[in-house]
Amino acid sequence: MYIQQGTKEYDVAIVGSGAGGGMAAKVLAESGADVVMLEAGPWFDSEEFAMFKWPYESPRRGASIPEQEFGEFDACYGGFNLEGEPYTTAPGTNFAWFRARMLGGRTNHWGRISLRFGPEDFKARSVDGHGDDWPISYEDIKPYYDRLDREIGIFGTNEGIYNEPGGIFQPPPKPRCYELKVKEACDRMGIPCIPSRLSILTKPLNGRAACHYCSQCNRSCSTHSNFSTPSVLLPPALETGNLEIINHAMVREVLTDGNGRATGLSYVHKPDKKEYQVKARIVVLAASACESARLLLNSKSAQHPNGLANSSDTVGKYLMDSTGTSVAGIFPQLFDMPAHNEDGVGGMHLYMPWWLQQANTDFPRGYHTEIWGGRGMPSYGFMGGIQNYNGMFGDGDGGEREKGGGGYGQQLKEDYRRFYGSVIGFSGRGESIAYEDNYCEIDPDTVDQWGIPVLRFHYNWSEEEYKQVRHMQLTYRELIEEMGGTILGGDMPSREQGYGITAPGQIIHEVGVTRMGEDPSSSVVNEYGQAHDVDNLFVVDGGPFVSQPHKNPTWTILALSMRASEYMVEQRNQGNL
Ligand SMILES: Cc1cc2nc3c(=O)[nH]c(=O)nc-3n(C[C@H](O)[C@H](O)[C@H](O)COP(=O)(O)OP(=O)(O)OC[C@H]3O[C@@H](n4cnc5c(N)ncnc54)[C@H](O)[C@@H]3O)c2cc1C
Ligand code: SF4
Repeated sequence: MYIQQGTKEYDVAIVGSGAGGGMAAKVLAESGADVVMLEAGPWFDSEEFAMFKWPYESPRRGASIPEQEFGEFDACYGGFNLEGEPYTTAPGTNFAWFRARMLGGRTNHWGRISLRFGPEDFKARSVDGHGDDWPISYEDIKPYYDRLDREIGIFGTNEGIYNEPGGIFQPPPKPRCYELKVKEACDRMGIPCIPSRLSILTKPLNGRAACHYCSQCNRSCSTHSNFSTPSVLLPPALETGNLEIINHAMVREVLTDGNGRATGLSYVHKPDKKEYQVKARIVVLAASACESARLLLNSKSAQHPNGLANSSDTVGKYLMDSTGTSVAGIFPQLFDMPAHNEDGVGGMHLYMPWWLQQANTDFPRGYHTEIWGGRGMPSYGFMGGIQNYNGMFGDGDGGEREKGGGGYGQQLKEDYRRFYGSVIGFSGRGESIAYEDNYCEIDPDTVDQWGIPVLRFHYNWSEEEYKQVRHMQLTYRELIEEMGGTILGGDMPSREQGYGITAPGQIIHEVGVTRMGEDPSSSVVNEYGQAHDVDNLFVVDGGPFVSQPHKNPTWTILALSMRASEYMVEQRNQGNL
């Protein structure tokens, strides 16, 4: 095979342009380092995307297509199945792996829920004996969270809840009508329901406009009012003139020298399918947690026979995803509402943080609750099965609404006018414990379309997680009844049905497969994401997480990547790297 070797040696080569990679590129390019970023997907510009489109502008009304799992107006090129890039799961186990392939990775679509991990989250083993403590504390990471708040922007409120630390917030948007209904019920039940914390601007910041409340954040944002890497981190990095981005570059492995140190990357350039190499003094992996583990495991050499940075045999292990389940109800008080605008940011304005820290629950750790509903712009398939509601809620006069049926013609139109906006749902996102037995490894029998060996996943929920999800189900059902609604979807799922728990991976918070720690025999990287075995190799995505609290991971990926990248700058300046 002919390999095209670049002659230039960069200071830093970064794999991936999502949250972790984008932050590393900004910090390092602004420090004066000569940086090359290899990104497997195409260029992406949110200014030219679909924020202002109507569903009827597409012959498919925005329905999903193979390249865009969440719909063709959704700003994420990717999904759980990528053509030519399979992964496998071991028999008797289950894992769903979502991957983005584009500049900015999943940050073009993500929900922007940006919750800080709290003091107990970093030291949870010391609190309840499960999992492991992180080698850092909240105080170590707090200054970086503060800077994210100031530099990227986030709205929210400071509530004084110990393990839900506040921040430097812009004002939150007002709750919508249905959210106020939820809050009233929560107040009666003693559950906190507070303004959400999303990385969306409600005031202009650093040349970026405030949100104009079009509710279409999943389509990225043409006015750069929400956070994505291409909107916020890459433009200043490119302005330095120190960052070169190579798109369509599918990295195959990390290259090393006879001493086992990293020397660069080898990649397939997708358009010509040829093999290339770039040289660099420092290699930074940010391909998303499992992709970075895959790269390490595929980078075997005489010095690293078990895969790169894997002398501890820990790469791929302690894989975690959040637990999840959802329950929705329909609320007659919201039927036949006059048409009104409930747009806001593209996400919830209120949420419910975990509130039972001191209670004696039958499972460790906790969960938060995301609220959804309302009268946003309909997307493809909205209120599917609406004809089933018809006849459930009559007027008691024996008229048309008592009859049921419908599903077409005048009856269908009337049903939409009647029921639209009257469904409210609750989705739990809970903490799972890190177990060595939940892991990914290289599948010896399967390669992708470029001949790169793929991952095989082994993952099962434990009894703790089922109990946690049972608690979510019971809480949401009680809430819906408290609010005077009718639960949709029938009886509560049984234990045999897993209480309705999502498959591992489906919440798309996979982290932990290159865990950080002080002990090189039981962890892959140190507190700065630096590989114990290879001092010029760093991991800055979710791989280094030691635990995955119920809080969504990306704000912490960004903070850790900023911290790691500044450490790299410091070490370069001292001549250590
Ligand atoms: C629908 C959805 C909603 C979400 N909502 C939230 C939320 O509200 N809050 C939250 O905190 N998180 C949320 N997330 C998760 C969040 O998107 C991720 O945690 C975050 O983007 C991870 O950043 P990353 O840099 O590790 O990976 P990514 O953002 O996935 O970026 C990885 C990049 O690496 C590239 N790449 C991969 N392999 C290679 C290779 N071999 N060679 C070259 N390039 C490669 C990919 O193309 C991609 O661009 C959500 C995700 C999804 C999909
Ligand atoms: S809701 Fe606000 S942040 Fe989201 S896409 Fe619209 S303008 Fe941008």
